[in-house]
Amino acid sequence: MKGSSNRYKAKIQLAKHHAKIANLRKNTLHQVTTYLCKKHARIVVEDLNIGGMLKNHKLAQVIADCGFHEFKRQLEYKAKKFGCEIVVADRWFPSSKTCSSCGHIQDMPLKERVYNCGSCGHSMDRDLNAAINLSRLAFTVKAYGGITAPMLPTK
Ligand SMILES: [Zn+2]
Repeated sequence: MKGSSNRYKAKIQLAKHHAKIANLRKNTLHQVTTYLCKKHARIVVEDLNIGGMLKNHKLAQVIADCGFHEFKRQLEYKAKKFGCEIVVADRWFPSSKTCSSCGHIQDMPLKERVYNCGSCGHSMDRDLNAAINLSRLAFTVKAYGGITAPMLPTK
């Protein structure tokens, strides 16, 4: 029945439920970003590649729920607080396309889950291969204060 008190109560219940989930997700994101900044000296984030982040990372659900920009914002201020560095890899950095073994670069359509190098024959999980390339990037860039900019976007 429209406008009945039961329907009204149900609506309030639903709103409370949504609020509870939103809070839970907020806390999860805070826990994750605090953990990352406290326990690591450098963190690499791929910029402007939200689609890729959502496909490739276990944090995808948390990030998708809370928003990538909120994730990055928290990382940046917590990095300052805990003294860790954020390395932002720009979106043109070929993390997925580069062979982590020999440096060969080849096309990697998203459906390809395993990197099979056409040059040296190296075979590795796509995400792991990309993560290795990103972690190497983190150690080759120069830090500017708390935040590092390896390759500034050419706009
Ligand atoms: Zn290779």
